[in-house]
Amino acid sequence: MPYLVAPEALEELLPDQPRYRVEQLRQWLYRHPVLTTAEMTNLPKSLRAELAGRLWPMQVEAQQTGDGGRTVKWLFRAPDGAAVEAVLMGYPRRTTLCISSQAGCAMRCTFCATGQFGFERHLAPGEIFAQVAYANAHLRAHPMPDSPARVGNVVFMGMGEPLANYDSVREAIRRMIEVAGMSGRSITVSTVGITPGIDRLAAEPWPVTLALSLHAADDHLREQLVPQNRRYPIDDLLAAAQRFQRGHGRRVTLEWTLMADVNDSADQARSLAAIALELGAHVNVIPMNPTPLAPQQRPSPERTRRFVDEVNRHGATCTLRDTRGTEIDAACGQLRVRAAT
Ligand code: SAH
Repeated sequence: MPYLVAPEALEELLPDQPRYRVEQLRQWLYRHPVLTTAEMTNLPKSLRAELAGRLWPMQVEAQQTGDGGRTVKWLFRAPDGAAVEAVLMGYPRRTTLCISSQAGCAMRCTFCATGQFGFERHLAPGEIFAQVAYANAHLRAHPMPDSPARVGNVVFMGMGEPLANYDSVREAIRRMIEVAGMSGRSITVSTVGITPGIDRLAAEPWPVTLALSLHAADDHLREQLVPQNRRYPIDDLLAAAQRFQRGHGRRVTLEWTLMADVNDSADQARSLAAIALELGAHVNVIPMNPTPLAPQQRPSPERTRRFVDEVNRHGATCTLRDTRGTEIDAACGQLRVRAAT
């Protein structure tokens, strides 16, 4: 299971191989991932055979395509039954991969499908990184018509709370940057706002992008949507965001899942704009993707437009996230696979 050992420890997997062979394998795993070991053409057949069938730490249980081939969702399954989803989205100038940091999630946000199903387990660094490697291997074999054939952006917006699995997420990010050669800026960690985790991230050597799932401008409303707010209320969160920005000089993104008659009022828009202005943060509005267990609904397009305009009118920069993957249940907050055990 080469992705389950650290890239620097690959030698241990291949004790009888010369050092340059280990380096060749490392290149295949981290720089030019391929779907099967058969494609690792510069490795001896015996070594390829030895690794065959053991390349990926998780099996692909299902692959679904939507949006005319520009969105692909994978359901991976680990040997212990843990299920993991990732979503690849091709755009004209970038290819973005949304990955999971945990199987399930313990945060229990009331509008999120993953939250309704609860927590299964943390993912290991290799299981997190393998999602990126697999998407790159897939893109190499099946490029999308108008998008780069390589994952340029990674967003931790699949299943799980990345800052609740800090060490593994950190190590996966380290592999993306130091071994696979991605830029820190192109990696976005999205969080409900676990402030000690934000501070740890701020102290890391690489400037990743931080996205805060705010969704409400006052604690009373936020507690109803994001139960973690009781532990880390809005003021604490914003203070941590400020420290993060000061450390890395990176503008934070505020995420706002827009729910009809919940957080789509002009009042909330104004308070959100004030928060964003004070932080110097960018606002990203995500129209709620309805899920069977959540009572909240998506507002009308007119209402959505009005909310975004209201935030902008107060001087903050606010954009509307395009909705990808709805037809294959791959949109934000719809990932929710449970183990079959
Ligand atoms: N736990 C992290 C990352 C996973 S969720 C976090 O909360 O940020 C990624 C984003 O999708 C978050 O902003 C989350 O609030 C949002 N989201 C969750 N459920 C959603 C839904 N049903 N519709 C739209 N966005 C949703």
